[in-house]
Amino acid sequence: THFGFKEVPESLKESLVGSVFTSVSPKYDVLNDSMSLGVHRLWKDSFVSALLPKLPPSMHSPTGDKEWQPSFRCLDVAGGTGDIALRILDRAREKYGNRDVQVEIVDLNEGMLHEGVKRVAQTMYYNTPQIKFTHGNAQSLPTHIADNSIDLYTIAFGIRNCTSLPAVLSEAYRVLKPGGRLGVLEFGKVSNPLFREFYKQWSFSVIPLMGQILAGDRDSYQYLVESIEKFPTYKKQASKSEKCEKEVLGQIIRTGFALSGEA
Ligand code: SAM
Repeated sequence: THFGFKEVPESLKESLVGSVFTSVSPKYDVLNDSMSLGVHRLWKDSFVSALLPKLPPSMHSPTGDKEWQPSFRCLDVAGGTGDIALRILDRAREKYGNRDVQVEIVDLNEGMLHEGVKRVAQTMYYNTPQIKFTHGNAQSLPTHIADNSIDLYTIAFGIRNCTSLPAVLSEAYRVLKPGGRLGVLEFGKVSNPLFREFYKQWSFSVIPLMGQILAGDRDSYQYLVESIEKFPTYKKQASKSEKCEKEVLGQIIRTGFALSGEA
């Protein structure tokens, strides 16, 4: 049965999101490039460069050193095929000569994680403690991720798919070290009226059609477009989060950060 995302009850959202990403995972990276005309790469580059602080160069080799401890721990939640995680590792290495930074990717969908593992196998990070894939839910992170253990928590194009924003934030708060950073990358709304019209045509006509032609799956891409439409603007979200921080999280000492790609 096809039903629009807007009509889906919250209790069914998680399983719908699960089937959407299982269906799109084999072609996820190619489709991201086609549907955003490559622009998602720029958003992700600027997200990572804004969030990653200056790191010291590596003191230890990440391979074969039993005493090795990561100096900077990142958690990329809803990390999918590893786009953000790989950018963090590349930037740390290229800009700071750092190969100690460690990223753990947590995602609800095993198909997406599987594509990510295949992708990392083609990189120098394969089989090193620098990258790890974990099956898990943003709303209730795996318990091996200890309280106050994470320096940088990122969630890119993932938070709008989660059923409970307060649960995601409260888990982020639990695992972040005091002074750690939270980075959320999500779609915004287009404010320019001319561009808004172009975006409307692009997202409601072209994207589902591309999904149908390139991935044989129109419905999943229809869902993605509708979920972007339904998600509040980051300004609204920020004021809600402020309230949320006060009510749910108590005293906030972590750095909040929000970026919005204007699709
Ligand atoms: N962060 C990646 C990127 O920017 O390319 C992937 C984004 S993809 C649009 C959204 C991801 O969120 C999917 O891989 C999906 O499985 C994951 N996801 C959805 N709900 C989740 C949840 N509650 N916990 C963890 N991951 C979730």
